[in-house]
Amino acid sequence: MYPRSFDYVAAGSIEEAVGVLASNPGAKVMSGGMSLIPMMKLRLLSPETVVDIGRIGGLDTIEDKGDYISIGALVRHGAVASSALIGEHAKALQQAASWTGDPQVRNRGTLCGALAHADLAADTPAAALALGATMVAQGPGGTREIAAADFFVDSLMSALSPDEILVEARIPKRGGGSAYDKLGRRGGHSDYAVAGVAAWVSVSDGVVADCSIGITGVGTKPTLAVGSMEAMTGQGANGITAAADRALEGVTVLEDLYGSEAYKSHLAKVYTRRALEQAFAAAG
Ligand SMILES: Cc1cc2nc3c(=O)[nH]c(=O)nc-3n(C[C@H](O)[C@H](O)[C@H](O)COP(=O)(O)OP(=O)(O)OC[C@H]3O[C@@H](n4cnc5c(N)ncnc54)[C@H](O)[C@@H]3O)c2cc1C
Repeated sequence: MYPRSFDYVAAGSIEEAVGVLASNPGAKVMSGGMSLIPMMKLRLLSPETVVDIGRIGGLDTIEDKGDYISIGALVRHGAVASSALIGEHAKALQQAASWTGDPQVRNRGTLCGALAHADLAADTPAAALALGATMVAQGPGGTREIAAADFFVDSLMSALSPDEILVEARIPKRGGGSAYDKLGRRGGHSDYAVAGVAAWVSVSDGVVADCSIGITGVGTKPTLAVGSMEAMTGQGANGITAAADRALEGVTVLEDLYGSEAYKSHLAKVYTRRALEQAFAAAG
């Protein structure tokens, strides 16, 4: 199906793009177009104006900023997956990006676009949650920072205002170890997550001093597994099973085409355990 007709603006700067958004309520930003265009073709979304930020220079860099890694708005999944810097400090994100879609999607889709899209089964939001990412949004009044824990509001809804653009994702270099593991909709690691879990842990004297766990695919939005985080803190590797058992505290599990509530609940625990085991081993 063809999308409804729309005005197309190729913005030359973020300021110009924000201006178009602010003066055209209902306008949508396009980065890689990997989700926006299919939604428009299916007529799930029919914006009157599309603001393409894909030609703006200087937004496609991954930079070491000392205590955090800066990932620009136009950094593609493939660049995240192949970055040695991200592999060293944010393994969970590298893994999630490398299992996002197929090579075409990874070569075109952007990390910031996927975070802003906030799909309930997307991979990278779980990693952003576990790694304690900060989102930098730019709107008519300037920039503001949003913690990942506050960013994913509901299915396909982020904390961004309609006239804001996610210009950067910041990943803190917190030490420790992290991992992402998932069951994809087509089995293995391909496609959106039926259940996906990212875990970050820091270990001191054999026990977890701090940890964050992000779950995707099973509930209404990518979310922190607060029960598992509480259970894991202060425990050694033998605490992982108990922590996995609390993976769904505060999560409303959704039954869908890919699994019953019971099946997805089971998967959430299995993948929490697997992600924690890998993160714990990496941190040790
Ligand atoms: C065939 C296929 C398979 C896929 N498989 C997976 C998968 O396995 N796992 C997974 O997680 N995802 C998967 N995806 C989704 C895809 O990875 C992301 O949705 C995509 O990368 C989003 O980035 P984009 O740059 O293409 O965003 P776009 O499509 O350009 O935009 C998506 C949405 O986010 C908004 N947006 C984009 N960029 C910004 C920004 N900088 N600031 C504010 N709003 C913004 C747009 O307005 C739009 O609403 C798949 C997609 C396809 C087409």
